[in-house]
Amino acid sequence: MDIPVEVSAHHVHLTAQDIATLFGAGHALTHFKEVSQPGQFASKETVVLRGPKGEISGVRIVGPARERTQVELSLTNCRTMGVDPVFRVSGELDGAGGGVAIVGPNGEVEVQEGVIVALRHLHIEPAKAAELGVRHLDRITVRIGGERGVTLHHVVVRSREGFDALALHLDTDEGNAAGVRGPVTARFIEME
Ligand SMILES: [Zn+2]
Repeated sequence: MDIPVEVSAHHVHLTAQDIATLFGAGHALTHFKEVSQPGQFASKETVVLRGPKGEISGVRIVGPARERTQVELSLTNCRTMGVDPVFRVSGELDGAGGGVAIVGPNGEVEVQEGVIVALRHLHIEPAKAAELGVRHLDRITVRIGGERGVTLHHVVVRSREGFDALALHLDTDEGNAAGVRGPVTARFIEME
């Protein structure tokens, strides 16, 4: 099975309340482009992320609104901003990091518990996961070929019907380390 590799730049997911604080009451996020996962989209709106040591501007919001606000950074982003990195599966925010302000045109939001460096993960439809013999939340090893080919351990499987579509998600540090430029695929190696 050829697994498309997708590199996710820093981005945020916002609650409806935080969207209102940042962009004004009643504001609806504007679609910029679809992302690979069903129902999700990158918005035209961007925000500034401000940490103790630095800022990153032009950060995309991935909609729709979520139950909790989540800031996803790479380790390089953490260094730039002076943020302590906390590795987490996306959405598992208890004990996640803080110390980042999200700044929009209408206001700002201080994130107390929601700043993460996302664990590398494989989105896969349950039927395809069954083909590989893996299940939701399993940890697996995958390989990316090419000039800077790498073997990646501890990839978290995300496999929920209607939510997950086949793609290996890496952050920009991981993508660069693997020499990912343009369309690349990965292969499943083994269960851990
Ligand atoms: Zn993902």
